[in-house]
Amino acid sequence: MDISLQKVEYRYAAGSPFEKKAIEDISFTIPSGQCVAIIGHTGSGKSTLLLHLNALLKPTSGSVVIGDRTVKAGRKEKDLKPIRQKVGIVFQFPEQQLFEENVMKDICYGPMNFGVSEEEAKKRARYWIEQVGLSQEILEDSPFDLSGGQMRRVAIAGVLAMEPEVLVLDEPTAGLDPRGRKEIMDMFYQLHKKRNLTLILVTHSMEDAAEYADQVVVLNKGRKVHEGTPRDLFADAERLAEWGLGVPEVVRFQRLLEEKTGRSLPGVCLSIDE
Ligand code: ADP
Repeated sequence: MDISLQKVEYRYAAGSPFEKKAIEDISFTIPSGQCVAIIGHTGSGKSTLLLHLNALLKPTSGSVVIGDRTVKAGRKEKDLKPIRQKVGIVFQFPEQQLFEENVMKDICYGPMNFGVSEEEAKKRARYWIEQVGLSQEILEDSPFDLSGGQMRRVAIAGVLAMEPEVLVLDEPTAGLDPRGRKEIMDMFYQLHKKRNLTLILVTHSMEDAAEYADQVVVLNKGRKVHEGTPRDLFADAERLAEWGLGVPEVVRFQRLLEEKTGRSLPGVCLSIDE
């Protein structure tokens, strides 16, 4: 299932004195089965864009095509559940959304809310808890007795148990140490490869983008300023600094790309700040 944005604009509090244009003129397509990173500095519009990917926000103008559905400004939408099932979002610090008395109930909550039987939901919980690297024994525990890392995995299992075709990850490595970051990103990447799951990574980390994405979309001040492979992006190193993506990141990004491709890249401009 492809997702395509066509001239998307979104204004918060549209029509009020507090109106604020958060994104404008954004067009790009996320083809089925790809890993796409959406990167940008704080305030560049990433979160606003993310909420359009499963129709939690509707564009103020333009349209978002999600599989066979088009979400358009000024049109009343009926039954958005199929979209929400197909496009799962793992929000930042998802562990904060756990609330049930045990892990099993927490994972089953989403699927059952979408009409899946209790028996099937439990079956999925037993499957997905292992896919996120935890044992089935944990299903009877209270989520609040788990470690932070375990809680995050439980929350992710809850989104995966909806069996989405597209998984949107909002800063999935926020607050994790380097080892935890790698473990969680490798887990997502394996799911992406094994199940042909489309992965959309919304992040300010160029490292994650360089390491995992096929395509990178860069936002700056609410506009799309770049779209291409991580290598294409790197060729625009000077502009990365202009977009608030700093030189130390560019250098780390270069190193990562070199490690990944085994090839050295043309010299990076290190004098951006001069
Ligand atoms: P990012 O996720 O890249 O940090 P956001 O999408 O959160 O960017 O923000 C884009 C712009 O929209 C910013 O200028 C921000 O201040 C504004 N904005 C975000 N949320 C709201 C809101 N609920 N009401 C008004 N303005 C908002």
